[in-house]
Amino acid sequence: MTRLERDAAALCERAVALGARAARPLPALEVVVDPRVVLKCRVPLCAGYGRNLMCPPFAPTGEQFAAALRRYSLALVAQQGIPLTATDVQRRYDGKGIDELQASKAYQGALAAGQNDFAAVLDGLEREALSLGYVFAAAFGGGECRLCETCVAAVTGASTTAPCRKPFRARPSMEAVGIDVLATAAAAGLPVQMPAGDDPVWTGLLLLD
Ligand code: SF4
Repeated sequence: MTRLERDAAALCERAVALGARAARPLPALEVVVDPRVVLKCRVPLCAGYGRNLMCPPFAPTGEQFAAALRRYSLALVAQQGIPLTATDVQRRYDGKGIDELQASKAYQGALAAGQNDFAAVLDGLEREALSLGYVFAAAFGGGECRLCETCVAAVTGASTTAPCRKPFRARPSMEAVGIDVLATAAAAGLPVQMPAGDDPVWTGLLLLD
């Protein structure tokens, strides 16, 4: 076993200790990038598009990410459950009551709390990897960044020059940089059920040089 493989196995264990449901290593070349993913940020228009510094058009483009990805050796795919009811998840898919759902404080609060817990897991993993000497370690989360109640981009718009309030904690999501989350998770042996039914999960990624 190489040092990288040993460290990846230890980081997978660490991910679970930090709160992830599961984590698996994957050769970086098997991370799937697809231009249709970023297209889906705009068709239909996602609420985070142009309103969150970790989302398009602010995040690295799919082309930029794919070029950087070629310089990495290994990825680590991690997952954590999303604390939403099956009814809420179903409403996201069938569109019935979707506007009310998006406006629901309880729904948005549950989503944000789960996302921020998962963001802390990925942040912790990236720090551990850095401490092991992986100087280009980079973590990507799931969904738009929700560390602030309102992102500075939602206030200043697409021409923003306002800085992120939490620059060392905010991470782009996998989908923001064009990663096909479903194909990548499946390649790592952590398939995501779609539609999500009663067991929705967030998927995140750590790249190791
Ligand atoms: S930390 Fe705050 S300002 Fe920075 S990207 Fe996230 S929500 Fe926006």
